[in-house]
Amino acid sequence: MEHQKHALISPVPGTERHIDSFHFGPADAERHIYVQGALHADELPGMLVAWTLKQRLAELETLGQLACRVTLVPVANPVGLDQQLMDTPLGRYDFESLTNFNRRYINVAAEIAEGLDAALNDDLAHNRDVIRDRFDAALGAALTETGSLTTLESMRLTLQRLACRADFVLDLHCDFDAVEHLYTTPAAWPVFEPLARYFGSKASMLATDSGGQSFDECFTLVWEQLQQTFGERFPIDYGCQSVTLELRGQRDVDHQLADHDAQAIIDWLRHLGLVAGEAPPLPELAYPATELAAMDFLHAPIGGLLVFHAEPGAAVEAGQLIAEIIDPISDRVEPVHAPQAGMFYARSQRRMATAGMIVADIAGHQSHRSGYLLAP
Ligand SMILES: [Zn+2]
Repeated sequence: MEHQKHALISPVPGTERHIDSFHFGPADAERHIYVQGALHADELPGMLVAWTLKQRLAELETLGQLACRVTLVPVANPVGLDQQLMDTPLGRYDFESLTNFNRRYINVAAEIAEGLDAALNDDLAHNRDVIRDRFDAALGAALTETGSLTTLESMRLTLQRLACRADFVLDLHCDFDAVEHLYTTPAAWPVFEPLARYFGSKASMLATDSGGQSFDECFTLVWEQLQQTFGERFPIDYGCQSVTLELRGQRDVDHQLADHDAQAIIDWLRHLGLVAGEAPPLPELAYPATELAAMDFLHAPIGGLLVFHAEPGAAVEAGQLIAEIIDPISDRVEPVHAPQAGMFYARSQRRMATAGMIVADIAGHQSHRSGYLLAP
C-alpha cells in the first residue's frame, strides 16, 4: 500500500488540509479503480466501507491477488468534515460558498478537445491513453492556476485528478433515511449491474446528464462529449465509467453493513477478473433499473408535523399514502401520496416539515422530468 498526501490551498494561515489517498495493486496494472467516501461529509457509511476496504485491499495485495490498481480516498472532504454547528454536523454544503460539495466539478472536455484530432488514430487503446493524459494535464493546469483558487476548488480539482485516469469511479454516499440505491448512466449500467446485484440495490437510477456537474458525471460527460465530437472519425470508448453508491441512510454506520458493502465491491471486482478467485454467483437484481427522469420528489404541501405511513424499501402503488403533514393549530392534515407506482427508497430525517420541502423520493417508471434532475 502506498500512502500519498495532497495539500489543499489553505484558506487562512495555519489551517492547511490534505486529501490522503491510498494506492493498492501493481502501479502498471491495465485497469484502475477509484473509490472515495464521504464527499458529502455528513454521509459516513461510505467512510466506514472505505476503511473496511482498506484492510481487505491490503490483504489482497499481500496475497498477490489484486490484478488492478485501486486508489482509495476514505475522507474525500476534510473541509466539510470539520463543519459542525451547535452539535450538528453539516457536511453537505460548504459554509463559505453555500454550495453543495457534490456539484460544479469542472468540465475540461473543451481543453482536451483542442487539437485532439492530430493526436488520435485508429487504435482505441491509444486514443484512450491520449485522452487520459490530456485529462490529467488539463486538471493539473487548473490546479496550478495560482491566485484564483479557493480551498473548495482546490479540493474538487484534487479529487478529480486522483480519479481521472480510472476505468471505474465509485463515489460512496448515503441518503437521509434510505435503503440501498445507486445512480449511474445508461451507458455504464451493463458494467455496474453486477455490482448492483451484489450490493442489493433496491433502486438503480440512470441518467447521462442530471445537470449538476456532480463528481460521478464530471468523468463520463467528458468521454460522452469527446465521442460526439470525434467518434465518427476515431474509435473512442468510455475511458471512465462511474457510479454513485448510496449506502442507505446517514445513521447506517455499522460494521455488518460495511462488511457487506465492501464484500460486494470485491465480489464485483472478482466478477470483472480484477481480483483473483471465483466470484460468487450473481444474486437476483432486487429491483429493475429506472430512468432518473422517472424519479419523483414528494413535497410537503404545507409546513407541519411529518408522520410517515410507509417505510423506505416499500414498492408502492400510484396514489398510496406515504405521509401526512399535520398542522396542530389549524387541525389541517394534508396527505402526501405516491404520484405513480415505484420504489419508495428514501425519506427525510426531519419530522417538522417546512412548506415545500422534499419529504420522500420514489423511483417511478414513467419519465416526466427534464433539465436539472437532482435535489439541491
Ligand atoms: Zn451524498
